[in-house]
Amino acid sequence: MTGIRAGNARVFSAALAAAGLFVLSACSASPALTIGADAPTAVSETPPAEPGPGTIGEQFTPVVVSALAEPIPVLGTDERIHFAYELQLTNGSPSKVAIKAVEASAGGSVLQELEGDDLNDVMRVPGATDGGGLELGPGQNATVWMDATVASDAEVPDRIEHTVTVEMPKAQPPLYEKTIEQTTQAVGVDKREVAVIGPPLTGSGWLDANGCCGLTAHRGAVSPINGTYWAPERWAIDYVKLTPTMNLYDGARDNARSYPGFGENVIAVADGPIVAITSDRAEQRAGTAPGPTLTLDEYGGNYVVQDIGGGNYAFYAHLKAGNVFELEVGQQLARGDRLGLLGNTGNTDAPHLHFHIMDSPNPLASNGLPFVFDTFTLDGQVTSQAALDAGEQGKAYKVDKTNAGERANQVPITGDLMTYPGE
Ligand SMILES: [Zn+2]
Repeated sequence: MTGIRAGNARVFSAALAAAGLFVLSACSASPALTIGADAPTAVSETPPAEPGPGTIGEQFTPVVVSALAEPIPVLGTDERIHFAYELQLTNGSPSKVAIKAVEASAGGSVLQELEGDDLNDVMRVPGATDGGGLELGPGQNATVWMDATVASDAEVPDRIEHTVTVEMPKAQPPLYEKTIEQTTQAVGVDKREVAVIGPPLTGSGWLDANGCCGLTAHRGAVSPINGTYWAPERWAIDYVKLTPTMNLYDGARDNARSYPGFGENVIAVADGPIVAITSDRAEQRAGTAPGPTLTLDEYGGNYVVQDIGGGNYAFYAHLKAGNVFELEVGQQLARGDRLGLLGNTGNTDAPHLHFHIMDSPNPLASNGLPFVFDTFTLDGQVTSQAALDAGEQGKAYKVDKTNAGERANQVPITGDLMTYPGE
């Protein structure tokens, strides 16, 4: 959603695309690439030779591929086990290349296959306002937001392999064909136990308006902070409370009190001490984003960071101004303790709670971790981004109740409408 982009420091920089330029030079041990106008046009009919005994199999791979972090599998409310991760592609060749397909597989089973519009929907060149398309210039990079899934624990692999199909402007036999199906290094799967927690809110009407696992604003918030790319909001949720008529607000759009969640209690999801708290930032006007006026530290507005153990830190953001529960850094909270009121402070244009789990106390310089809620009710789902966007514009949310029911040890996915224990 355009408005509810909490802590969404989507600060892709055009300058970054120039980094990492690397051109193979004509030294004795590496091929001199002559891609471009002078390149030969003949297409070799000879397939690449298989490596012989005592040789190492090597392939010219114009696109260098890495993962921002190892994926951590987690069960979603769609009953699929998700691997949400970000592949970073860099064109290491001196000519423009086209990315034709990206495939994730394990042990011969395809987990996710992206090409054409599906690939274009989840691939972005940093700084490109139109997304950047599927072509990469020399040295240019792009991120592909992956959402590979499997059906059961038994199918969770130790590593995920990737095949990236790249089209060159011309073949350069015998070095490469015009279309290169390149195999890249496998990405390990991090099989840690994910945090099992309670929801940060109580009662009914809570919509995950911006969450995993498509390319929502949260997943897209891959930001260069302190010299490194981070994806702290990979599993973040923006919570809005809907009216009985399934609307975002009832009354004037620019009045925070028109939003039914405004002022509701936000509670601790687990036991653990407070490691950071900010409470003196003023409310934003509802219906309007603050624009590029915030410092990095102001994106979260008033917030609490809580150490919930096991390397997991809970982040509760955009809370109402004022330390109404008189909390202090170091203070131990028990699960269910009130820690603030849902507000509209920081990078927000409508009252909501931004919640995520991360691997450090820093809301932006951290890696987002998955989690599950031990018990909750799924009341239905808003099943498309278009429907979520329409709701944000004031239309009633269309809720599909097909999969409604009690849920245990699952993570919400974007569009879920939920009821949580407590009043
Ligand atoms: Zn958010």
